Amino acid sequence: MGCLICAKHRGAGELAGPVVWRDSLVVVSHRLGGFPGYLFVETVRHVPFFDGLSGDEVVAVARAVHTAGRALRAELSPLFVFSLIAGRGVAHFHQHVFVRHPGTPEEVDWTWTEAPVVSEPEIDALCERLRGHFSG
Ligand SMILES: [Zn+2]
Repeated sequence: MGCLICAKHRGAGELAGPVVWRDSLVVVSHRLGGFPGYLFVETVRHVPFFDGLSGDEVVAVARAVHTAGRALRAELSPLFVFSLIAGRGVAHFHQHVFVRHPGTPEEVDWTWTEAPVVSEPEIDALCERLRGHFSG
């Protein structure tokens, strides 16, 4: 069975969300669904876990996560921008970068599953604005 994230990078499979930015080492994409402000930074190369990254990939991931966080803060004015590496679901390196929107109930620790959602065109428009932060 193939890797869902490798498939995603080919624009296929159940995880294929809008791509915000990519270079030769990393891909930044928005999670599928209507929750605005949930990004993934993934290595282009299939490497299962963060301890397998090359030095160049470490730098590329760190820069992309930092830019993603700044872009989310600039575009969405969230209460927080969180980032984490877990990798329990799919063994292809990916780092989550996501916001906590104003109005999130206090009892929600991380992911607000009942959050208000926006339309797909609104997600695409957000991705276009986020993309502008990566140029350069
Ligand atoms: Zn993969």
